[in-house]
Amino acid sequence: MLNHLLSADDAERLRALLDESEHIVVTCHVSPDGDAMGAVLAFSHYLWRKGKDALPIVPNIFPDFLKWMPGAERVRIYDKHEAELAPVVGAADLIVCLDFNSPERLLGMKKPVMESAARKIMVDHHLDPADFCQWAVSRQDMSSTCELLYRILVQLDGLEPMSYEEAACLYTGMMTDTGCFSYNSNRSDIYHIVGQLLTKGIDKDKIYRNVFYSYSAERFRLLGYMLYVKLENFPEYNASLMTLTRQEQKMFSHKKGDTEGFVNIPLQIQGARLSVFLREDTERPVIRVSLRSVDDFPCNAMAAEFFNGGGHLNAAGGELACSMDEAGDLVRKALKKYAPLLKGQ
Ligand code: 5GP
Ligand code: MN
Repeated sequence: MLNHLLSADDAERLRALLDESEHIVVTCHVSPDGDAMGAVLAFSHYLWRKGKDALPIVPNIFPDFLKWMPGAERVRIYDKHEAELAPVVGAADLIVCLDFNSPERLLGMKKPVMESAARKIMVDHHLDPADFCQWAVSRQDMSSTCELLYRILVQLDGLEPMSYEEAACLYTGMMTDTGCFSYNSNRSDIYHIVGQLLTKGIDKDKIYRNVFYSYSAERFRLLGYMLYVKLENFPEYNASLMTLTRQEQKMFSHKKGDTEGFVNIPLQIQGARLSVFLREDTERPVIRVSLRSVDDFPCNAMAAEFFNGGGHLNAAGGELACSMDEAGDLVRKALKKYAPLLKGQ
């Protein structure tokens, strides 16, 4: 049995907020990943099952490898249909904010969400939650928002009514946010939950293939190019850097999500403690920064200090408004500054 995560009081307040709301918008952070989409869809399925008018709206497009998810065809993309969706956000009586901790992470959807008279709730596992919701649960000790959401839904209603669709979406988020249970995944509760989700008939092997065996041939050629041509290793810092320009993305017919997971690969180098990946965004004039580490190296501290970002201990990100050369120089500066921690062990 899992311990209840919410106090009885918090659970009651959440139940009342859901009961009192009819028109509910469910959303997540920009560039949704498996955990964000899993949480948005699981919560939406839960609300639909309760007879609510719930609409999943994400700030911008999500990757093709998540299109198989049950209910994905009902997800609306805010930046593609802003004129139609802004009034829907405005007229909602509840907005459910999943897998993010600050309105900034909504990009263009921030304004309508913040201006809406709707009450807001947050379910998230990132550090330093901003105070913009009437009800919030923020737990950094959770592997994923989907794990947190599983525990909340089961606390509210028990496991019995949970649907196959909810279970498949929750499993997807737990699987993707832990790198298939290879990091942030040492708590035994996680495997208890996975066991319970399997009782709903989900095919976890198929979910794995749906997510990870669905890449285009171009994506593999791009990966080969990155590792052969672009990987810069800094053995003196136990770190490495890969950069990818807009032009290179064009060369390999890059599609959203194609570089997902690239940043983790250099951590397979023996002794590696940090991997940095810089990618010119194709939609906005910025360089997206991704950091991954092992053990106790604090990616979030480095992201906050050097890359206008933040995140978790072992996975963080940010963005820079400069040239790729300048961004590379900044990474080298960051490595130098953090040398004592990188050389540690
Ligand atoms: P990714 O490298 O997958 O883009 O991001 C990894 C993690 O870093 C995310 O789950 C999120 O916690 C954090 N993160 C990514 N980008 C940003 C950013 O621009 N700002 C902040 N505060 N956190 C970010
Ligand atoms: Mn997450």
